[in-house]
Amino acid sequence: MSPFGYTRAETVADAVRVAASDARARFIAGGTNLVDLMKYNVEKPTHVVDINRLPLGGISATDGGGVRIGALVSNSDLAYDERIATKYPLLASAILAGASPQVRNAASTGGNLLQRTRCHYFYDASTPCNKREPGSGCPAISGVNRIHAILGTSEQCIATHPSDMCVALAALEAVVHVSGLEGDRSIAFSQFHRLPGAHPEIDNTLRQGELIIAIELPPRRFATHYTYLKLRDRASYAFALVSVAVGLDVDGSAVRSARIALGGVAHKPWRVPEAETLLAGQEPTEQRFGEVADALLAGARGYSRNAFKIDLARRAIVRALRQAAAGTPQSQSSKSIL
Ligand code: SF4
Repeated sequence: MSPFGYTRAETVADAVRVAASDARARFIAGGTNLVDLMKYNVEKPTHVVDINRLPLGGISATDGGGVRIGALVSNSDLAYDERIATKYPLLASAILAGASPQVRNAASTGGNLLQRTRCHYFYDASTPCNKREPGSGCPAISGVNRIHAILGTSEQCIATHPSDMCVALAALEAVVHVSGLEGDRSIAFSQFHRLPGAHPEIDNTLRQGELIIAIELPPRRFATHYTYLKLRDRASYAFALVSVAVGLDVDGSAVRSARIALGGVAHKPWRVPEAETLLAGQEPTEQRFGEVADALLAGARGYSRNAFKIDLARRAIVRALRQAAAGTPQSQSSKSIL
């Protein structure tokens, strides 16, 4: 681990000022990803800004009928908050599908958005990696790529975003509130993470020094017809090969509207609004689910060891839609797939 400076910020303005003055400064909250990356010499910050004393906790109702979640709320506190568990069970379910209880106790809401890919080469500082060292190459494209992306890839990088929580936040159309030197602003969740393109080293659209201060959920959605289905190599403490977050507004025997996001398949939670509209006003049939899956996976490309993900994703989408339509969401305590 390389030497670094340390500041314990007492105000948001202090934290932002320090981070904005140094491109290699990093915020630390739970540290569940950053500290690992520092130990592996993947992240070598010159300065670490501790934000744990900032007033960024708490979960509160918004004037518009939604919920505001402070960036420092732990993943556990968020998943077990009664308002989240009852009004946004899709989010609670996705959080409980991820990591371990110990990690969820330490990991923060804001930090969850900023966790970095689990690509094996990214973590091995002895190998090239365009995300870690731009221009050095991407050995995953012709190497060990079982866990890698099938959608939205580039010639520079085929990494996936590892979060479960973010897949649900994408389906819920959350908003990310940030604070920076130029003031506060809000970022639609779909605009927060980015595809790798020519710059895989950039994971998101934050500006230098900007700090996530809260996540806002729109008014209550999908409390009945939802599911978070996660498929992985191990029953727990494993990242998704494919995950599917589904929320349906159901009116009688028809779907009024749908939101669907995929995890484990792209550099960001994957949504295709045109696929969601295929369900609007329609009966939830197996044939329709298949058409939605095909639309979500249009353009999918498999690599040497992950082509299986395309069919796996298609079947997962159909199964998740079936679970959500029936109101029988995937249990995260019983790992058997419904
Ligand atoms: Fe690096 Fe991305 Fe290639 Fe992995 S997939 S080796 S993170 S450039």
